[in-house]
Amino acid sequence: MNTDVLKQYLEFYQDLGVKNIYKRDGGAGAFTCPAVEGGLPAAEQAKAPAPPSLPPMVPTGETLLKILEDIGDCRRCRLHEGRTKLVFGVGNEKSPLVFVGEGPGADEDAQGIPFVGRAGQLLTQMIENTARKEGIPLQRDDVYICNVVKCRPPGNRTPEPDEMKICGEFLFRQLTTIKPKAICALGGTAARALTGHKEGVTKMRGHWFDWRGIPVMVTYHPSYLLRPYNQDAKREAWEDLKKLLHFVYD
Ligand code: URA
Repeated sequence: MNTDVLKQYLEFYQDLGVKNIYKRDGGAGAFTCPAVEGGLPAAEQAKAPAPPSLPPMVPTGETLLKILEDIGDCRRCRLHEGRTKLVFGVGNEKSPLVFVGEGPGADEDAQGIPFVGRAGQLLTQMIENTARKEGIPLQRDDVYICNVVKCRPPGNRTPEPDEMKICGEFLFRQLTTIKPKAICALGGTAARALTGHKEGVTKMRGHWFDWRGIPVMVTYHPSYLLRPYNQDAKREAWEDLKKLLHFVYD
């Protein structure tokens, strides 16, 4: 196993809440426990039970439905307090392309579906019109759309780091399960959650980043593009989308 794959495993376990990983030390059934200086004594190692084999990156039986069930009537962070409906995600579960936004707004909170308000309508137009102009047969329903946080932040404020961390674990499970060919990060919050980079979206947009081996294209959030003075940004977002669609569907 090379270091990149090992890193992906470790990040994946971390997302699942596994805090300690024990390194297997050569012989069958033996572990080196980092908590014990020098590992377990030979006699103890010989008695140690055979280790379980590494689970695959997507645990057996992982599905979007299972993730939704695990979220349940979530109260893991304060965002649940103002929630009407939890907004999990919508679209093609086998899509090669996933769009990730920031978090539900008022319309999404009322309907339980991501990107159905004004910003959502613009996103739909951007996807479908760009695809049509580029000769790619693609409708909104063909892609998968979700957010970093699943509950609406009060007054549509930016999600706090702890809220993003808690809910981000479910986003990461969604992405690991769907395994798209590429991800589109819509706006700074999604870009930060997926890439860890702190630069503004103006700097990051149009560039490829990486989320656990999956290419991530960063572009502007559609809400930003709705502002009338942002025509240049609109043109740039169409360019980003063109690049993304050709990468995924050519
Ligand atoms: N903005 C987002 O980031 N997500 C939505 O679902 C709607 C608006």
